Amino acid sequence: MKKPQTTRFIIFSFLSIFFAGLCHAKTSIILLGPPASAQAKFLVKKLGVPSISTGDLLRAELSSKSEISLKIKDTMSQGKLVADEIVIDLVKKRIAEKDCQNGFILDGFPRTIPQAVALKTSNIEINYVVNIAVPDSEVIGRISGRRVHPASGHTYHVKFNPPKVEGKDDQTGEDLITRKDDSEEVIKKRLEIYKSQTNPLIDWYKKEKNIKFIDVDGSKDIKKVSEEIGKFF
Ligand code: ADP
Repeated sequence: MKKPQTTRFIIFSFLSIFFAGLCHAKTSIILLGPPASAQAKFLVKKLGVPSISTGDLLRAELSSKSEISLKIKDTMSQGKLVADEIVIDLVKKRIAEKDCQNGFILDGFPRTIPQAVALKTSNIEINYVVNIAVPDSEVIGRISGRRVHPASGHTYHVKFNPPKVEGKDDQTGEDLITRKDDSEEVIKKRLEIYKSQTNPLIDWYKKEKNIKFIDVDGSKDIKKVSEEIGKFF
């Protein structure tokens, strides 16, 4: 028979390890969904972890006119996917930053199977994949009304989220623009690419045992979709 003191010690050690584990629990989420699924901001507020948008990372490269910008400029304006190696490298560097240590939200990454494999082989832990399904017609409507403030990256929508003054950023009063790749022709191209290159990730992630896969109907208005997602976090 074990002495009561020994038993107490074992229980105490077990609970300490358990709670230490809980305190360090990460929330790392992948948002899968066609262009303009628009749920990252809400999760950042709710969970207090940063969102990593590969579109934003790549646009930052473009505006800093870095060496990479020369390689990605045409690809992006045509709505095609940037080479896997470039995006993977940017994401890995971003995740290594301090603010990601309690988790992060990946928005727009991965978009291809090789990108998902790169995450896995780099031992970057992912806990959830939220798959937001949006019909094509809705995507086209959302993107064609999108307006952006280039300096801050703030986005608006002429109908669903208009700025206080038409065509002007709420905070700075500066002009809003329509992104070059938000024209209807380029949007159709992006949707095509989404279907062929990104949709296969749905089955890929459904098979991953340690990742919770969440399906969400993204056709409703953005707030309702947020409420739906919020139930899981
Ligand atoms: P949206 O969310 O409207 O689709 P993003 O801002 O996420 O647009 O992406 C804009 C462009 O950046 C894409 O059309 C593509 O050229 C490039 N891009 C973003 N993420 C990736 C990625 N994971 N892999 C390859 N290219 C990407």
